[in-house]
Amino acid sequence: MEKPAFLDRDRPDVPGLVVPGGVTPFYLAGRPVRGRLIRLGVLADAMLTRHDNPDQVTALAGKALALVAALASALKFQGSFSLQIKGDGPVSMLVADCTHDGALRFYARSDEDALNALLAQNPTPTDRELLGNGYLALTVDQGADMERHQGIVEIAGDDLSAMATHYFATSEQHACWIMLACKMTDAGWRSGALVLERIAGEGGTAEAELTTPDGTTHDDTAWETATILATTLSVGELLDDTLPGPQLLHRLFHEEDLRVSQSRALAFGCRCSRARLVEVLQHFPEDDLDHMCVNNDTIVMTCEFCNKDFHFPRRDIASATS
Ligand SMILES: [Zn+2]
Repeated sequence: MEKPAFLDRDRPDVPGLVVPGGVTPFYLAGRPVRGRLIRLGVLADAMLTRHDNPDQVTALAGKALALVAALASALKFQGSFSLQIKGDGPVSMLVADCTHDGALRFYARSDEDALNALLAQNPTPTDRELLGNGYLALTVDQGADMERHQGIVEIAGDDLSAMATHYFATSEQHACWIMLACKMTDAGWRSGALVLERIAGEGGTAEAELTTPDGTTHDDTAWETATILATTLSVGELLDDTLPGPQLLHRLFHEEDLRVSQSRALAFGCRCSRARLVEVLQHFPEDDLDHMCVNNDTIVMTCEFCNKDFHFPRRDIASATS
């Protein structure tokens, strides 16, 4: 049996922060609309500043964290939900994931020279300019015994919210409206998301079947109204810790029979540990392990999510391959 995280004394020192109201789920009664409001609060600053990324990369990563929190909290699963983007732009790799219980982590890989060249031309590049052309994948991983569910699409759209909307439209045939924001505020880095999903069922009443002569249904109109109301949300409101989530949602949807569900927590959570990294190292042949050594006797492994170095004496690692 795997050692529970709280007994693992080898865990790196990570922010022990839990944001209790990080996810506020809601739906509009009698309408084909459900959604989640995500606000990372102080967790955004604690997580994003652990990595020495340029501000543009930090802002992109913060939006990715809010996005995976929003998408993971809509699914029933046990394990992790991850977003991976690989492109040919200055940010060549962006990974963010969220577990079923709201533990978040991320890393971003960027090329300093390529980023500086881009910034020299355009000081406020779009997410697309940072990422370039490439692919976006969303994966639900429920452990070794379960089938992985993965969808991959080409990067399309100017910003991360458009890329995710495109994913749902093409890969899942599912209408979504997504707003993402991450900014340095007076209180530090903050990030948040508002996601609306068009669902079947909620509006599955006789009324929903009514169509107008031009073919639009009651459901089409209700969905459109919800998205129009959602666009009135400002970045300032989304990232304002002093404005409670239910109150913000009430401002937007009070005329649409808003029902706010029980909020859920978000936290920092990496699953790395010395024991897991030793397992990884044991897959290398002895020769490779020798080559990894620094100062002749130490292997250093970095968890890119925690941005933490783990040091292993070479003599403690025995290859399982030879
Ligand atoms: Zn880690």
